[in-house]
Amino acid sequence: AHFAAYVVIGNPIAHSKSPAIHARFAADTAQDMRYAHLLAPLDGFAATVQKFIAQGGRGANVTVPFKLEAYALANQLTTRAQAAGAVNTLIFDDGLILGDNTDGVGLVSDIVRNAGFDLAGKKILLLGAGGAARGVILPLLEQQPAQLTIANRTVAKAEELVQQFQQYCAQPGILSACSFADATQPFDLVINATSASLQAQLPPLAADVFSPATLAYDMMYGSQPTVFMQFAAAQGAHVRDGLGMLVEQAAEAFFVWRGVRPHTDAVFTALRAQL
Ligand code: NDP
Repeated sequence: AHFAAYVVIGNPIAHSKSPAIHARFAADTAQDMRYAHLLAPLDGFAATVQKFIAQGGRGANVTVPFKLEAYALANQLTTRAQAAGAVNTLIFDDGLILGDNTDGVGLVSDIVRNAGFDLAGKKILLLGAGGAARGVILPLLEQQPAQLTIANRTVAKAEELVQQFQQYCAQPGILSACSFADATQPFDLVINATSASLQAQLPPLAADVFSPATLAYDMMYGSQPTVFMQFAAAQGAHVRDGLGMLVEQAAEAFFVWRGVRPHTDAVFTALRAQL
């Protein structure tokens, strides 16, 4: 093909918004590229990637359930992918498979730039200790918060993350782990990185973690505010869902591939209208 080819690989994948997002970025920045869906069989991720590379593919986004397999397949990793333990962006370059992860910087861009919420010196509560939580810890620490507390139902998993990320902390004591029940003082930012919203459930959180100055961020998004956003709003907090994170992780991947940073506001507005 004369154009540069990119795909988003997942299973299922037909519902993905990434092709529409990247088509808009490509048109706005006049990049000669194509971006398509690619369904990989559950037992055939690596073979699907290799076939796409053989056809001249230049890069791929990777989504559920293949982010760990993409991490394993890459023969080189960026620091942020290494820290995340997962890969959502692959770059194919002359036999090299470079693995990157743009989810965390996508979240931070959405909070700092789009929501105008500076994180330096702030107290952050991160809910959850799964893949989504792990992926955002390094980019959050890079904003130099005063405190980053990870609360999880299974506290041992939060404690494990604290151990793994200690090496990235400027000062000791910034990172800590606790149970939901032990998070009782107000935080500046509360991020829901649990999958509880998917089942319309609320992590068992004290109302005290929210104040009218708090930004409550749910990584989930949809046409309606999540139960987490509703609970936070009832305490007077500002709320935001994960749609901006989705758009910003795509913009960062686009920048990694093409060296051009697309504008994201129009894409965000268009996606919001379609939810
Ligand atoms: P994982 O399965 O890796 O982790 C799930 C986490 O949620 C665990 O910490 C788990 O706790 C916790 N959890 C699940 N159910 C409940 C519950 N009922 N109450 C309290 N805690 C619960 O999932 P991921 O980390 O991959 O995904 C989490 C969310 O992030 C998903 O909703 C996903 O859609 C979203 N996401 C959004 C992105 C975006 O661009 N906006 C990007 C990536 C993810 P325990 O350890 O105790 O089991």
